[in-house]
Amino acid sequence: MKTLVDNIDKHLAMSKEDSKAFFDNLYDFLLENEADAVDYQGLKIQSTPPLCPNCHSNNIVKNGKQKGIQNYRCKHCGRQFRVTTGTFVYRLQKPQLMLEYIRCMVAGKSLRACAREVGISLPTSFTWRHKILAALKNFDKNVNFFGIVEIDELLMDYSEKGRKYSSVKEMKQAMRKKPKKVAVIVATDRSGNILFRNTESKRAKREDIDKFLKGRITEDEVLCTGTKYAFRHIRKSKVKHKEIVGAKKKKRGIYSTAIVKAKSEEFARWIYSKFRGVATKYLQNYIMWYVAIGKYLSGGVISNIGRMLNLASSDRFAWYEYFRVSKISYIV
Ligand SMILES: [Zn+2]
Repeated sequence: MKTLVDNIDKHLAMSKEDSKAFFDNLYDFLLENEADAVDYQGLKIQSTPPLCPNCHSNNIVKNGKQKGIQNYRCKHCGRQFRVTTGTFVYRLQKPQLMLEYIRCMVAGKSLRACAREVGISLPTSFTWRHKILAALKNFDKNVNFFGIVEIDELLMDYSEKGRKYSSVKEMKQAMRKKPKKVAVIVATDRSGNILFRNTESKRAKREDIDKFLKGRITEDEVLCTGTKYAFRHIRKSKVKHKEIVGAKKKKRGIYSTAIVKAKSEEFARWIYSKFRGVATKYLQNYIMWYVAIGKYLSGGVISNIGRMLNLASSDRFAWYEYFRVSKISYIV
């Protein structure tokens, strides 16, 4: 790995403003230093202590260097690993192309256009996209709601896009058993915080909503919900003040679910028109992409490359999450 910064401690202790400027210029900085996404991942990961990719123990010792790359060994389970093991760039075949891939991705290009422009195959384009998106999942922990919070359910078409059947019989069988819709919980507040959660079932249950809200709101916020059963019955312990409002109504001039409904429609349009629908097992990945666009990627393409690279490099175990989701079998 190339040395990107002389004093890593100084780099890691940057103020919020300085680090924002750093990410905005990160793409140019990496090009100037002839560094790639793997080099940056190696730097970024050093901001947190090493964890074993196998047993998540932090009882880790350094275990020599190989071609200049630090190796580690877990004292708990014996697993040997590198600084980038398990991250979104783990086992990447053409690491030098990843930065350009991120450039195409944040520019909003299709999988096919990204593949053509970067010079990779279409399946590789797909896996790279989902390795990056898998790393965004943990950012849902950073989303909290304040003040008047609107919550609702969005029904999306259940999809197994990309699935191949071995026979017509298998396809017909699968068609019969498929659910038609999956419910997505959507919440937003008046400061623009927004989050969605694929419940993976046909309607959101009270437990799903409780789990979704846990730690994201305090009992002092005001929750506006629609009239659906699970939403009307969100536990009192979660929030003291709850307003149940009909679809097109507004209570006392301020309580409504209009914003959350508009945001839901905007998200659904993004999924159906930009991607022509996505496989349900990847829906949460796209949700986090959408959330990241609103929360972290508001600049131009060049500054968004650095921001996206930094987000993708923040998760130590993104590769495993990518692999887990890709292996999910369909409902039937
Ligand atoms: Zn271990």
